[in-house]
Amino acid sequence: MRIPNPGARRWRAPVVAIAAVSALVLVSPAAAVTPGADGAGESTELSRLPDEAASVVEVLLADSAELDRLVATGVDLDHDVSRTEEGIVAHAVVTPSEAAALRARGYRLGDVVFRAADSAERVEERAATIAAHVAENQAFTASLATPDAADVRIIRADYYTSGTSQILSVEAKWAQGQTSTSTLTVQRDSGPGTEIGSGGSQTISRFVDAGVYLYHRGAATVTARPDRIRITSPTGGVAVAQVKEWLPIPADDPEGPGYQQDFVTSYLTPTDLYARIHQLAAEFPDLAEVVELPYRTNGYRRKAQAVLGTANAGRVAIDSLAWGHQGGNDISVELVNPGAASQPLAVTVTGRDIRVRLATDAAGTVTSTAAQVVAALNADAGTLVRAYTYRGNAGAGVVAPAARTMLTDGLRAPATVSREPHPVYAIRIGKHRDGSRPGVLAYAQEHAREWVPPLVAVETAERLLRNYGHDGRTKQLLNNLDIWIAPSVNPDGGHYSFYDFASQRRNMTNHCPLTGAADALARNSWGVDNNRNYTEYSLFDGYSGASSSCTGDTYAGPSELSEPENRNLDWLAARENIKFSMNLHSSGNYFMWSPGAYAVPGRVSAPRPTLDQESFFWGASSRILTAIKRHRNMAVTPARTGPISDVLYSAAGNSGDMLWYKYGIYAWNFEVGTSFQPDWDEAHQETMEFANGLVELMRVARDFDTDHQRPITGLSTTPSDAPGMVDVTFTASEPAAVFYTLDGTAPTYASTRYGSAGIREGGETLTVPAGTTVHWFSVDAAGNVENNYRADGTAQNFRKGAAALPAG
Ligand SMILES: [Zn+2]
Repeated sequence: MRIPNPGARRWRAPVVAIAAVSALVLVSPAAAVTPGADGAGESTELSRLPDEAASVVEVLLADSAELDRLVATGVDLDHDVSRTEEGIVAHAVVTPSEAAALRARGYRLGDVVFRAADSAERVEERAATIAAHVAENQAFTASLATPDAADVRIIRADYYTSGTSQILSVEAKWAQGQTSTSTLTVQRDSGPGTEIGSGGSQTISRFVDAGVYLYHRGAATVTARPDRIRITSPTGGVAVAQVKEWLPIPADDPEGPGYQQDFVTSYLTPTDLYARIHQLAAEFPDLAEVVELPYRTNGYRRKAQAVLGTANAGRVAIDSLAWGHQGGNDISVELVNPGAASQPLAVTVTGRDIRVRLATDAAGTVTSTAAQVVAALNADAGTLVRAYTYRGNAGAGVVAPAARTMLTDGLRAPATVSREPHPVYAIRIGKHRDGSRPGVLAYAQEHAREWVPPLVAVETAERLLRNYGHDGRTKQLLNNLDIWIAPSVNPDGGHYSFYDFASQRRNMTNHCPLTGAADALARNSWGVDNNRNYTEYSLFDGYSGASSSCTGDTYAGPSELSEPENRNLDWLAARENIKFSMNLHSSGNYFMWSPGAYAVPGRVSAPRPTLDQESFFWGASSRILTAIKRHRNMAVTPARTGPISDVLYSAAGNSGDMLWYKYGIYAWNFEVGTSFQPDWDEAHQETMEFANGLVELMRVARDFDTDHQRPITGLSTTPSDAPGMVDVTFTASEPAAVFYTLDGTAPTYASTRYGSAGIREGGETLTVPAGTTVHWFSVDAAGNVENNYRADGTAQNFRKGAAALPAG
């Protein structure tokens, strides 16, 4: 569900959909909500009822102070915050009970912009795509039933030139492609009428997406234009095809003719993502390797649990000692009324079945309290389970009998998803992977439900590898950079998002105490927000925008770097050669950098970058955003470009700030696209456009060392159609960000930025009154500032011009 032009939204009354959903909420003690509490400055935990689904809902706020208060509640905000003339519209990811709690605190809710059912549709769509690929494979296999059919078929054979290189790109389908990892060998002729084989040969390898074989493919440099090719499969099938010339794409495209892209066909789970990068590294062993990061996650796993009873004082919470998949899920508990007077409390264990005979008085009434049952369970079934009273309750209430209940971890992923502590992988790409080259780090899926950013990461990795052999610019990048791409840094949360709770943001680690929300009814609210658990300007340092509640969706964890996911990123960032990074999130189409946090009250920000540093951030942004825009003309707006705390909200302990302040890495953050799980067509477009941007970051990194040329800009004026007005555009010697004023003041980085996506697109036209004074300066992607102007508002060597009508 796309949000059309959110900046143009107007206030409106809460819509019927929310009210209807909220009406279904049962009042239950499990919703640990403090009705009526104002969010400011106190623990205001919002908790999910078990098995509630979440939607993305607008929250209508008067001003930044109210936004800060909302952030302080620990509510789960997505990355979309629109500032309108009337106030601020934030997007909150809330279940019906959380929505009700927010409204009880006086927050105004607006439209529902994304429903849980939308995620289910995405999962179905993904399953359908995979099924379609499987069906295609079966149809292909069936088509081989004719006696003379070969088991290999050439799909495409494209010849093209790139610079001085000649390239042959081949795609072919082989009947054994799903099960055999063999490459296929392509033999070429050396022109019309020549022998096949006389032009040499090349190998092509499998393209596997989401575990399903699609076809073999590959490109290689050739010395003559082939006319025909032949593939002989390992099983002896033979296919011959004519080579076609591939249409050149426009010459001004930096990707040049023959540039290969578009390597994803469906959403990918963390398991799929890791399989993909392993496959790539195996295919390009000279250029890439997979690195297992030093810390395994806590695992996609939970203890098997149950809560018996309804009234809090009489509730008994029970957890297996073993993980659910290691036997916990086989344990049952039964609370039996013995049906006789004056019976003692007794626990019997038969295999994994626990039977509690409750005590009775002389009248035959059950008298066992929750505290007594807990003690008896721990004494007599303590090798299987741990029991405790409900959330710190004294447990003085009498326990109600309960039918035999299976403990369960409640996890629904297929067995193909590992329940063990999960390795986290990055693919390291470059001809020289020894730390001697400038490093670039890209990482995605700190937030589990953000399904598009990991695709941007793997698409980028694949573009770099598949174009190395024939694209000169890509070769330059890989020969001179040391690139680390981690497509999913939070695989446990990622799997949980795909299979259990689509709106999962955090990892799956439970830090709630037994006296708190450790029980089964709260487990869908566990986890640490990995993007709040880092070391700089964190919650623990007194900064705003993270929760100390173990069930808060921005929970910062018990301490900085408490989580393996976070220690992995710290390990990556500590590579001394890493100079640039991109933290890939969704959604909102933002492009941001530090500072990412401030302290309230007072909005005391983490230190701002120096002007020189800010120059580099802005100049590089211009190039990266232009690359993004090239795909389908989607412009990340100036209002969504800049420091995180300026354009979004405070996010204490985020990774970008750690990389910038602790390690001095130029650290950016993408907020990709329009929602967490858009329909596939949109997800695909977003992947392509932001992969453009990520590849451009590699080029920025490459150019950073070599570019010392200052940009030179000019002012061009023409009469406007409107009387007395002049049309003004800027020209530039190279991609550069231009900041200008029209009121005679000295321009700074706070001044209006020209265009929305940089000069290379052809900039916007400003229509101003004749005679207007224009002051400006420009900065390129290496941070070189025109005229060496110091943009602090005091220097005078900025560029000056007048919007004059041409004489005559
Ligand atoms: Zn995120």
